Amino acid sequence: MITLRDVTKEYSGGVRALAGVSLHIGAGELVAIVGPSGSGKSTMLNVLGTLDRPTAGTVHIDGHDVGRLPDAKLSALRATRIGFVFQHFHLAAGTLAIDNVADGLLYTGLRPAVRRRKAAAALERVGLGHRLDHEPHELSGGERQRVAIARAVAGEPALLLADEPTGALDSASGDGVMALLRELHDAGTTVVVITHDREIAAGLPRQVRMRDGLVVDDTAHDTALAEATL
Ligand code: ADP
Ligand code: MG
Repeated sequence: MITLRDVTKEYSGGVRALAGVSLHIGAGELVAIVGPSGSGKSTMLNVLGTLDRPTAGTVHIDGHDVGRLPDAKLSALRATRIGFVFQHFHLAAGTLAIDNVADGLLYTGLRPAVRRRKAAAALERVGLGHRLDHEPHELSGGERQRVAIARAVAGEPALLLADEPTGALDSASGDGVMALLRELHDAGTTVVVITHDREIAAGLPRQVRMRDGLVVDDTAHDTALAEATL
């Protein structure tokens, strides 16, 4: 699904957010990215999601060498194959839940009525079939995040990337959001979640730990190593 090779990312001012990361994530995995603040987690997720291009190194997604794709092709890949969820939801204020989700399907070229039908189905899927006509300010934090997840998955992406999706939520709402991400994973979506929450990370099948722009631990390697020595 995704392969990063020797990826570095330098920001102006000499900040090295990624210092040489190699990572493979297979189709259908559910992976936690953990590490202290400033360790490069968000930068890595943005590179995984093609929101940001690396300074050096290569990124392959779905067999495409992202660095070789022109911007238009890259946007198309991102729109059709990747869904994003952020800590602070990123919903449009003053816009109904159903339209927030339907607007995420603009790239599809589907007619507005069809986009709204798919949006309603996605909101049903996240348990918000009764909140279609609510604006973000009329929803709880947990409900807003579920709208954001509905928007991310309405186009049925193969890959879902979530940057601290429970970071702004109380623990009960956070548990609801994690249960939803698990369901999407069970249905076949590859899911990558950045989290500060040790308990959440420990509950996921694979943990990748970052520090100072490097992957310093990856439980997938531990497993592979254990299997190799058996
Ligand atoms: P994390 O998500 O683990 O907290 P980030 O990936 O956001 O870490 O940041 C990694 C490092 O890169 C930090 O030192 C941060 O200050 C820096 N950084 C992140 N984004 C930018 C940017 N747009 N411009 C300059 N420096 C940045
Ligand atoms: Mg971050």
